[in-house]
Amino acid sequence: MSTNAHATESSQTVALTVDGHDILFPALPYDIRARARSSTGDPQLQQFVNSATLLKHTGRIKVCGEVFGSNYEAMRHLGGDIKQHTLDHLDFYLDQFVERATDAGAQVHFATDGNRANEICLQIARDNNCKLCVKSKSMVTEETHLVPELESLGVETVETDLGEFIIQLDHDAPSHIVQPMIHKDRRAVGRAFERELGTEYCEDATSLARVARKHLREKFRQADLGISGGNFLIAESGSVVICTNEGNGRLCTSAPRVHVAFVGIEKLIPNLEHLSVLLKLLARSSTAQPLTCYTHIITGPRRTDEPDGPEQVHIILVDNGRSEILKPETREMLRCIRCGACLNSCPVYRKIGGHAYGSVYSGPIGALITPMFKGLANYPDLPHASSLCGACYEACPVKIDIPKYLVKLRVELVKRRITKLSDRVFFKIWAATLRYPVTYRLGGFLQKLIFRLKARTQGQLDSGDPYVSRGWISDMPGPVRGWTDERDMPTPTARSFRDWWRNEHENSE
Ligand code: SF4
Repeated sequence: MSTNAHATESSQTVALTVDGHDILFPALPYDIRARARSSTGDPQLQQFVNSATLLKHTGRIKVCGEVFGSNYEAMRHLGGDIKQHTLDHLDFYLDQFVERATDAGAQVHFATDGNRANEICLQIARDNNCKLCVKSKSMVTEETHLVPELESLGVETVETDLGEFIIQLDHDAPSHIVQPMIHKDRRAVGRAFERELGTEYCEDATSLARVARKHLREKFRQADLGISGGNFLIAESGSVVICTNEGNGRLCTSAPRVHVAFVGIEKLIPNLEHLSVLLKLLARSSTAQPLTCYTHIITGPRRTDEPDGPEQVHIILVDNGRSEILKPETREMLRCIRCGACLNSCPVYRKIGGHAYGSVYSGPIGALITPMFKGLANYPDLPHASSLCGACYEACPVKIDIPKYLVKLRVELVKRRITKLSDRVFFKIWAATLRYPVTYRLGGFLQKLIFRLKARTQGQLDSGDPYVSRGWISDMPGPVRGWTDERDMPTPTARSFRDWWRNEHENSE
């Protein structure tokens, strides 16, 4: 495999050529602002993302209220406790899983990083002379950039989750953990099918799904390699659990003769009893369904007395930075079951969309784990991509306190002096100003003076009640421009609240 950086696509991406294929990676350190600016300036994208996330967000609240009722909080506690317990004893459950999965006939591999995971998969494909791969949705394979690697080996690889299939046809990237094409509409799908599959343009969802089904059915028939992720790993039985809504997961894992599952080590849970709790939390939090349409529990390859199923099952347990997060201070982050509820509830995600985060994982959980996986210095903006409103914590079915950890990352940024020099100087001045009453008052006075001068030049100053603000400043220079570019700022009153207080107090005496 040859890899060399050959072009800079923009200030945000670098194209690397891997065996003739261009793969875009974000330029590091990643600067979220340019992409966020372009998404906030795209009303169509905001409409798609906003309406889809809002639908899932309100659906989740409704279905959790209806199905869990007053037990919802208790279920969240239980879900969080199950994941936390497994992570606290991960060594024991990993050993148990490997032993039971091997007993069931699966071959278990360990991969310390993404490259190693891909190498293992490529070797399996080579050993079995695989030519066509059908793949179900897997965030871990997005992390490891598996598809271009398989293609470079000559293995045609087809995404079979409908959203991922459209993303692949469009040479695009997923922008949501659960709904990868949340940033597109039916028109975009119609155009992609017309261009790539040669079908007549249409916007009807049923007809589009029919086209995809017909195309994919042939691929399922011919494929010799099936790749999947895994929502959970059951230590007690050595099983991989896959939840899908389209049934493609079952076809990917049972039609081809070789099945390879890429699963992060944090997906372990002790047994099937625990699975029943987490399946309910996952479906209701991600798609507002009581349960996902299909839940596959795969325990080893086809038995001799079974008519179908793969001849080989390989499970690649991927670390890729997870052991680093496993330290007690950050372990809670690994509870994530990738339901996407925090994305749907996040006002920042709804505004900027998933691509702005510059990584496979977007939204609040992406802002947290991407710097942990890939280095805080490489993603210094992400811990700030949150209003800390707490909506993500309220939505999270396994009670990950995302805002708390984002604040910790911000503290770390300051401690390690990763923040920009201008930010450091600004906050030093700010802190000094707030420390003493005299500097605080002077700061307030200067701010009022500057703003009222600006209001005067814009004809927004009047001589009415000195304690009432009138008029709006629509254009401020310098660092305040970012604010007035988006919204107007009220003109400060002639007299301050402090003046008013003193006045009232003196008059009443
Ligand atoms: S952090 Fe919580 S809400 Fe967000 S994807 Fe993970 S489990 Fe779901």
